[in-house]
Amino acid sequence: MTQSEFDVATILAMMNKEELEELQELPPVEDPDDYPDIQLVSRYTANEKSAVDFVTKHGMMEFPQCCDWCGSKAKTWGRVSVPGSKYYFMRRCGVKSQHHNGKQWAKSAKSGTLFQYSKLAIGSFIYFVYFWLLGIPYTAISRIVGINPNTVTDWATYLREVVVAHLAMTQENGMQQPLGGPGIIVKIDESKFGKRKYHVSDEPHTVTLAHTITPSQRGHRVEGCWVFGGIERIWDEDNNRWRAGRMFAEVVAKRDKATLIPILKKRVAPGSIIHSDFRAYDCIPELEGYNFEHKKVNHSKGFKASDGTHTNTIEGAWYSKFKRHIPNNAYNQHALQDYLFVQMWKEIHKDNLWGGFWTMVDGLRVDDDEGIYWVHEKLESDDETEIESESEQSQCSP
Ligand SMILES: [Zn+2]
Repeated sequence: MTQSEFDVATILAMMNKEELEELQELPPVEDPDDYPDIQLVSRYTANEKSAVDFVTKHGMMEFPQCCDWCGSKAKTWGRVSVPGSKYYFMRRCGVKSQHHNGKQWAKSAKSGTLFQYSKLAIGSFIYFVYFWLLGIPYTAISRIVGINPNTVTDWATYLREVVVAHLAMTQENGMQQPLGGPGIIVKIDESKFGKRKYHVSDEPHTVTLAHTITPSQRGHRVEGCWVFGGIERIWDEDNNRWRAGRMFAEVVAKRDKATLIPILKKRVAPGSIIHSDFRAYDCIPELEGYNFEHKKVNHSKGFKASDGTHTNTIEGAWYSKFKRHIPNNAYNQHALQDYLFVQMWKEIHKDNLWGGFWTMVDGLRVDDDEGIYWVHEKLESDDETEIESESEQSQCSP
């Protein structure tokens, strides 16, 4: 198959109107409880109309119902019915005479959304999300979905920003619980990420292969970043072994008390039993109001469960949950932290990754000045606004 066969916009352009309408008749598909297989996703993306319906249903886009200026019912632009066209997303008001400026009002459903400046077919976006959540390498996503590697990199960056904003919002709203709690073991540790011998180009979208590195770049050592993290160590009764529970990871400039202790206080609940092997934590038992128990553990020996089974899940978790998923070029502090947050988010939602993503993006909007925000977050602060805007929507003036 060639790449273009996957390009939804191209397929649509080749279809005649009857074929398109036939496709649009597909019955709606219920959301699955677990991660869907590719066949189910291909139902969502069967044509650009069903893809647009899918993201609209999940609150990523909203077609304007009424004119913002006079309240008349907004109309589809002309006779454009092909969802790939930019006019498909436009709704306009034809009642110029009622507008004080005498101008025509129009608004795109993409306006103020993640798709605002994007030409990517919505169907391709859904496929992108599908493979991105699975952690498929970007080069593979580019080939499978048939989208430009630069577009893949851009969208991966957007989605990291969305995840970071979402984690920040849920944390601010107290929706994220700290790790541990009375009697629960939290293993804390620091790990070095991204230490490599050669420098990779700073330029976005450019992955420099070792053999193409110029002499001036050769030998530039990348020192990497220290990451401070914690993982709950949970005794699994059913399987009679220790397993890794929830986790956190933060990039730190230094590994001193002044840096690490405030993060510990923020991320780990009072009463937890903290396992560590590093001297900076000697003050842990004395932290007022936290009632932490502290045990020093020697990493190199690993853990032994009561039945003598050798368990090393916590050290293994650093690799399997984090390092394995971080690309080599994410060596600067900022980028690395974003990747870590994405892994944290995926861990939180590992039982419902697909549903968790579409719940996360529900009501997601982008403001050129303020950046990413959620519609319901704004409305929650003023319930009356919500009621007003809903009644406005359902009753356009004739
Ligand atoms: Zn109007």
